[in-house]
Amino acid sequence: MCLYIVGIGPGKPEGMTLEAEAVLENCEIIVGYTVYTGLLKDRFPEKEYYSTPMKQEIERCRWALRQAADGKETALVCSGDAGIYGLAGLVFQLSGEMEESPEIRVIPGVTAASSGGALLGAPLGHDFAVISLSDLLTDPAVIADRLRFAAKGDMVLCLYNPSSKKRADHLKAACDIILAYRSPETVCGYAKNIGREGEVTGILSLRELREFQTDMFTTVYIGSSSTLRVGDHMVTPRGYRMVRPGPCETKAGTLQENRAAVSGRVIIFGGTTEGRLLYEHCREQGIPVSVYVATAYGCRILESRDGPESGAENKRNEKAEQERIHTGRLTRSEMEAAMRRERAFLVLDATHPFALEATENIRAACGTLGIPCHRIRRELPEPDDTPETLCFDSIEGVVSYLKNREGNILVTTGSKDLFLYTALPDYQKRLYVRVLPDVETIAACMGLGITGRHLSAMQGPFSEEMNIGYIREFSIRWVVTKQSGAVGGFYEKQNAARRTGAALLVIRKKNKKETGIGLKEAIEILEELK
Ligand code: SAH
Repeated sequence: MCLYIVGIGPGKPEGMTLEAEAVLENCEIIVGYTVYTGLLKDRFPEKEYYSTPMKQEIERCRWALRQAADGKETALVCSGDAGIYGLAGLVFQLSGEMEESPEIRVIPGVTAASSGGALLGAPLGHDFAVISLSDLLTDPAVIADRLRFAAKGDMVLCLYNPSSKKRADHLKAACDIILAYRSPETVCGYAKNIGREGEVTGILSLRELREFQTDMFTTVYIGSSSTLRVGDHMVTPRGYRMVRPGPCETKAGTLQENRAAVSGRVIIFGGTTEGRLLYEHCREQGIPVSVYVATAYGCRILESRDGPESGAENKRNEKAEQERIHTGRLTRSEMEAAMRRERAFLVLDATHPFALEATENIRAACGTLGIPCHRIRRELPEPDDTPETLCFDSIEGVVSYLKNREGNILVTTGSKDLFLYTALPDYQKRLYVRVLPDVETIAACMGLGITGRHLSAMQGPFSEEMNIGYIREFSIRWVVTKQSGAVGGFYEKQNAARRTGAALLVIRKKNKKETGIGLKEAIEILEELK
């Protein structure tokens, strides 16, 4: 007689293959873990059942082998596929101990990776790795290594046994490993109780997944860098270069083919020097491009480049250029609308490293529309390690530090959060604020009571000497700056503070480990479009 090892799929009867159903129909005895035999009893009521609770696998397999050897057609059932973290392997091993082993046949089933993947959309559309977080039978160090290497290889990860009561923090630990290689915004998903009562799925970021509590009936998906969120679905494009040019058209191909096919544009979200350089590159190479900047100041950054200058043609160019440069802070849905309107086929996010919200919105909008998106990373300078340099996580932190200390303060952290400094009792006297020469910005500062000599509005960059002059003129004791890049004039402030004896209070960027591609890589991608 034969022992069939049958994968019954995720749970519901329709999820079983016809072959599995026929085998179960024909056998006399069905053996399995209580939960799975329970799922079958309604459908095959006349069979003889033998169930054991979890963790008695060896006993269960031996018993099934014995029944088959004794001449009873027997099926040993497993959820999903019997060969995937199932009992098929164990049965083969144990059969080696028997004097006369029965014939063993494995009947494949739909594994949780596929059935859960189908509920989520298409998370496994490209290379992926399945890893079980259960350390019952595997050394935790091996699990950690496998997570690391799969993450390093930018594969989608599908995690089985993400956690249980005893191992509640396994998923969190796994996320921490993966976060060393992948953005916290990586699209992730989970599928719980697939094909069973209480079936539920969800899509969330890697950052959120880290805090998410799962159980042993859940399968978890962690996207690769190309995985997208398309509406309510998690999708890993089939080819890394597959792009969707418009809202309703899908076309696989290289960026170049795509560009030719749709006469679309590259969209750059700028406001930084990186954005300007990319914009210039596109224009020089004849790549159709539009730039979106949040503020009028960002717009001027674009204009401060050395362009071709010549009479009438220059006027025409100017007009065309204005049409390509859009100023104003966009919401996520406005971004989506702009991408649709311009038929964007590639989006480059070169916004300021502090503009976390913009970055998140750009990524989400691209995800919804299925447009490839690259974040342009900016290398941040590490502040000097001196007693006169203090680092904080937030402006609130700086303010509470300054509350109990005397001395004038030079604020270079922008107008948006300026109101936070008003928590200082004598702020109108102590603050010297330097902002961009923008009417709205100036009005906002004045609205807070920062006026006269306490307010300077001027576009940088500021040299070390200018900073020194400023510090001396206003007897500045404290210089508050964000940890912005070299472009943000950080070093000039740091050096000026050091030379005048002022203390430098640095607000560290929250998401310190910036992910994304460098300027050089972005230019290489644009090169492909020529
Ligand atoms: N042989 C099974 C896997 C057994 S390992 C298969 O091929 O699907 C057990 C793990 O599989 C669970 O911890 C969970 O991560 C996943 N899993 C199995 N069935 C599931 C279901 N119905 N819903 C969600 N996850 C499931």
